[in-house]
Amino acid sequence: MPFDLVLRQCRLADNEGLVDIGVADGRIVEIASAIVADAPEEKLDGRLTTAGLVETHIHLDKAHILERCDCGQGTLAEAIAAVAAAKRAFTVADIHARGRRTLEKAIIQGTTRMRTHVEVDPRVRLNGFDAVGRLKREYAWAIDLEICVFPQEGLTNDPGAEELLVEACEQGADLIGGCPYTDTDPNAQIARIFAIARRFDLDIDLHLDFDLDPSWMHLDEVCRQTDAHRWGGRVAVGHVTKLSAVDDARLSAIGLRLAGAGIAVTVLPATDLFLMGRDQVHHVPRGVAPAHRLMAQGVTCSLATNNVLNPFTPFGDCSLIRMANLYANIAQLRGTADLRACFDMVTTSAARLMNATDYGIAVGHPADLVVLDSRDPASAVAELAPPLFGWKRGRRSFTRAAAILHHPSAA
Ligand SMILES: [Zn+2]
Repeated sequence: MPFDLVLRQCRLADNEGLVDIGVADGRIVEIASAIVADAPEEKLDGRLTTAGLVETHIHLDKAHILERCDCGQGTLAEAIAAVAAAKRAFTVADIHARGRRTLEKAIIQGTTRMRTHVEVDPRVRLNGFDAVGRLKREYAWAIDLEICVFPQEGLTNDPGAEELLVEACEQGADLIGGCPYTDTDPNAQIARIFAIARRFDLDIDLHLDFDLDPSWMHLDEVCRQTDAHRWGGRVAVGHVTKLSAVDDARLSAIGLRLAGAGIAVTVLPATDLFLMGRDQVHHVPRGVAPAHRLMAQGVTCSLATNNVLNPFTPFGDCSLIRMANLYANIAQLRGTADLRACFDMVTTSAARLMNATDYGIAVGHPADLVVLDSRDPASAVAELAPPLFGWKRGRRSFTRAAAILHHPSAA
């Protein structure tokens, strides 16, 4: 069989031994212990090889605006207001330039698939959708980008927003999102989002239950609507920080409900840690939903970046390995199985949330391959293993030089 590329001595997440991976026409065509071929090759010396990291929740349109925003409190309300003000000056060129910086960071961190939320409303109109649409086409050589349009500042209370969302869907938005907690009629917003999803046959990804009051949840209505519309397997919710404030028994009941309804959960540790518990100055709660416990109950879960260098999260290098490590640390995890779950939440489980059926190192799948400087998934999370290089559909997409130590004895 003619190969365009053979990667040798790859260590796969689920395999004890090392394998060679043969690539032709952008796809994986053979996986074997020793491929005999006269083709260009790369020796990986037993390093961990994945199908790439999967970012399920980021906002490319409002990244890198920290210097434009004056924030003193660090609350969610302040972040929404500050971005709403800054957004009025967003042009397509501006969003494109900032989105590109963010996207390139993610590619260099080993991300090969990404779902980005994009705000659509009568102020910013389709500027974000247009700019990120350009990025989707321009960076298809390195990353598969999905666009989820959503109304950050409310839907039923914002005349014109729904018409613009529909326009974006008519122009090819991949997904419809929502943010019921900023709507004056949250349940009505949820109903409208499901209606749009059905009209355009789209999956749904909602920002949900983003506070620490467990006395009520929009999750109940989302479960009800998911069942009513038979949309199970096509709905994801992000944040759900309220789930960090419920006791064991209630969390178990909610986990079973979510697994049964087919609703996936994305946890956004950097943002949730930054914005939650602002009413306390000591014993500040973590405010991060226990994704690993939901996953143990059969819920599809992912860990994601959310925001980069803006009032929601004034940090960010787009590293999903860092996000997995951050989550493991704040959730007080240790041991191979728990750390492996964190790795899965930025790879296989994240791909499942996005209904990416061709993800993974398997014959016939796209040759999306990222090499981490590690021997196994748990160590990669524990030690923040850097991605070294990657291929997208068989073409080299990035290289990061490995660090070199200049010890005097080697001089
Ligand atoms: Zn978000």
